[in-house]
Amino acid sequence: MARGRPRRGCAVTEDRRTQLADNMARVEDRISTACAKAGRSRDEVTLIVVTKTYPASDVRLLAELGVRQVAENRDQEAAPKAAECADLPLTWHFVGQLQTNKVRSVAGYAGVVQSVDRPRLVTALSKEAVRVGRELGCLIQVAFDVESGQNGRMVGDRGGVAPEGVAELAEVIAGSQGLRLDGVMTVAPLAGPYAGRQRAAFERLVEISSDLRATHPAATMVSAGMSADLEDAVAAGATHVRIGTAVLGVRPRLG
Ligand SMILES: *Cc1c(COP(=O)(O)O)cnc(C)c1O
Repeated sequence: MARGRPRRGCAVTEDRRTQLADNMARVEDRISTACAKAGRSRDEVTLIVVTKTYPASDVRLLAELGVRQVAENRDQEAAPKAAECADLPLTWHFVGQLQTNKVRSVAGYAGVVQSVDRPRLVTALSKEAVRVGRELGCLIQVAFDVESGQNGRMVGDRGGVAPEGVAELAEVIAGSQGLRLDGVMTVAPLAGPYAGRQRAAFERLVEISSDLRATHPAATMVSAGMSADLEDAVAAGATHVRIGTAVLGVRPRLG
């Protein structure tokens, strides 16, 4: 049955392609509806598909469906996946907590690091960007559930710098070789005054972004919103939404 196996394999791939295409269409519909409701043009919002826990074969199908921006949150998973997909016209965003000992690897494939939250990480990113001769985009991850002067690493494992720390960190990034300050990012807070109020948190992030743009006009990216709350993010003014589950399905494990 020499012909059986490849055909079965192709059928599986076709099913997955159809599933991803359907999910993409639904997400696209949600984004354009949210844009229309907010009086925003659809092209103001970029979809980043978060492919964590899903295989490189899915990334390939997504690329065929027109996806150009993908995100991952763990280097040990992202590095081999990005290598397998090196022939595809993709920009890889790193959105997870980043340890300085992983920076060398991440700088090899990421175009944008969205989780920049401390000067030590900036120093490490700058050094590696210069070493590999690439410019790395940086977003400052803002945490709305941490005390001023701390970062999220002290209270949980989600990362981020308190709003009060954004301006100072922006100067460090802007003054670092090999790095480009692209904007701000947040994850809806689970604790603190914004817990359960993601719309308000995203609006606050947009305010922080406009303060930042007063001194760094090119830092226009506002990355907010996931599968459950992309409408709130678009309404608040996000320029980038990071969607995993709604495109790829419910993850087999937390990631
Ligand atoms: C996993 C993840 C997402 C996507 O979340 P979904 O709820 O699956 O859409 C977005 N941002 C970050 C930082 C993530 O880790």
